[in-house]
Amino acid sequence: MKIDRLSDWSPVTALLQHTLGQMLNLEIDSEPFSQLEEYFRELEKVPPLQGWQNDSFLELFGERVFEALNRQYGGATPPVQLDLLKISVALHLPPLPIPLVPIARHPLSGAMTVASWIPGLGPILNSPSANILRDFWCTDFIQCVWVAPASIRAFLAASVERLSLDAVPPHEDFRALDAQLPDCPWLDAADVLIPVNTLRELGLSCNLMRSVSAVPLYRAENIVTVLSAQRLMPQTIGRLQQTLRTTATIFQVRGDEAAIEHLIERTETDNIDPSRIFRGAGKTTQQSGRDLETEAVRVVNTCLLKAVKMRSSDIIFAETPDMLRVRYKVDGGWMDEPGGLPLAVAKEVINHIKMRCHLDISITKIDQDGLLVKDFEGQRFTFRVNTSMDISGEKAVLRVQPKFDTILSLEEYGMPQTYIDAIDQTLARSSGLIVLCGPTGCGKSTTIYSILRRIDASFQNVLTAEDPVEIVVPLVSQKLIDRATGETFASWTRDILRKAPCITVVGEMRDQETVEAVMTVATSGHRIISTLHTTSAWTIPSRLMDLKAQRFYISQSLSVGISQRLVKMLCPKCQVQVPVPAAEKLVRMGLDPERFHGVTHLAKARGCPYCHGRGSYGRRAIFEAMLVDDEIREAIEEGATSLDLRNISARSGEQTIFDKALAEAIAGRISLQEACTTRCG
Ligand SMILES: [Zn+2]
Repeated sequence: MKIDRLSDWSPVTALLQHTLGQMLNLEIDSEPFSQLEEYFRELEKVPPLQGWQNDSFLELFGERVFEALNRQYGGATPPVQLDLLKISVALHLPPLPIPLVPIARHPLSGAMTVASWIPGLGPILNSPSANILRDFWCTDFIQCVWVAPASIRAFLAASVERLSLDAVPPHEDFRALDAQLPDCPWLDAADVLIPVNTLRELGLSCNLMRSVSAVPLYRAENIVTVLSAQRLMPQTIGRLQQTLRTTATIFQVRGDEAAIEHLIERTETDNIDPSRIFRGAGKTTQQSGRDLETEAVRVVNTCLLKAVKMRSSDIIFAETPDMLRVRYKVDGGWMDEPGGLPLAVAKEVINHIKMRCHLDISITKIDQDGLLVKDFEGQRFTFRVNTSMDISGEKAVLRVQPKFDTILSLEEYGMPQTYIDAIDQTLARSSGLIVLCGPTGCGKSTTIYSILRRIDASFQNVLTAEDPVEIVVPLVSQKLIDRATGETFASWTRDILRKAPCITVVGEMRDQETVEAVMTVATSGHRIISTLHTTSAWTIPSRLMDLKAQRFYISQSLSVGISQRLVKMLCPKCQVQVPVPAAEKLVRMGLDPERFHGVTHLAKARGCPYCHGRGSYGRRAIFEAMLVDDEIREAIEEGATSLDLRNISARSGEQTIFDKALAEAIAGRISLQEACTTRCG
């Protein structure tokens, strides 16, 4: 069907106006009624996208908050509190004075769920006068939920670029309405995030939610909206009301069973609820040591499971003067377990971790290291544990130790083939030095393990010195540099020639002695890989010279210098397009507007349940390299500056990390802000 005249919409507009007037009990010819008419007249004069940004009539008329309106006018439509920004459905909005936002489409029946700031629209949107609306969305049936006007406006303001006032193109696969629960709007449970506080206030346990297969979504004073797969039986409603200690009306919206189960599971791991895990744990006098111990085991297991599910790299359990603080590191950023856990259980939790790694629980003032192994869902995870004491108390830091066979290859890491070839050539030669650089946490050691994956250690003598040993590599002799015994990278490297090495890895060159020892090994016919703390591949020679290496030895031994950064990838579920900032703003950010020529949009993400509200999901490495050829070797020997070296590389097409990160931002894979973090100097 073709809808090309806005006047076609006037019956629906009239219906909306009429419903609103009835709902508010406005007498015809009264002052408020003419205000309502005036409101609609004004809106019809401006383009919808602009008019929708105005305050809703409910706000203008009622000046009441959403909940108060809800109390007064609710009863017709399930109210929900949805962050519409996190919901992604067809962004086709009918050109009506009142925004109707499609938020879900039932996968089988095709019934459309629409959010609006007017409650109780269901019946009128399915009346014959509103045929045009159902044609617009290619659906047979429209269901409604009621969302706060502010939430709708925020969504519209943020999505204005993506919205369309054109009808949804008809799709062939459309099936007949599943009339099972025509009065229950369907929501995609994957879009739903239950705030921890809602659950805490409601006091619903995951077990109860599971047993009735329902999840509370929203609570106003006398209304609770519940998401469930089946129609709720009266006894189930009674049970919910009993648990919620309320006589509130329970509204039902509908979701898929598997998705609801998944949502409950996610809630379980997302929201470890200290008050529930430790029911009464604060009152130590009433709790026996055995109870606390049991609780501690549950806390440790729950937190570790949560960490694994969130793809955390590190977990900290820290005793503070008034609680146990649990933190997770995900994609390089830290996040706190909300609320913290009661202090009473803190000591037990740390002791339990120490016992699991066979550490001495009576030793608190001296650092201890150990390994904790835990199986989750048939997979084995190893955590490297360090316990220590600071002024606020004892803490345990756990780092997830990846397995060697899960380390990606350099190709999988996205390293350009020319760099990989240069590394392979160096490893195949009789001597050469590969240096990796970049700030702490940029993934240098992972890259070294990836390089080790390329070496067949059964035919070569491969030796490494590491602090700490992050991953155990089969057939490689790995040495943990134990500073307590006075051992250093320098002393180990000086001794290495006696061990007949083929390939040597020296964890880090951080002082003059180590650099000297590495240069000696590298220039005496050996292959050596190490890392250096400097920002770009082209500053490696000058940094080595700062550490008193001689220019000639650098030029003779260095074959590949690689710098890398990890950038956060935008969450695929909640990214939105944003216009490219104006040229002046780009200049203020230190960016060249020319780079953005012909680019209209960039991407950013707002955070959703999938990404734990962070807006990013996963990271990828970006590399830059100085591949030492004759020209660069000569330039180093002649005392070229880092800039000179970079210019030489640039002539053969080599780009900096920042250039590459900008290209990623322009391609919409990372945010512009993230690209800017890779800029050095
Ligand atoms: Zn997200």
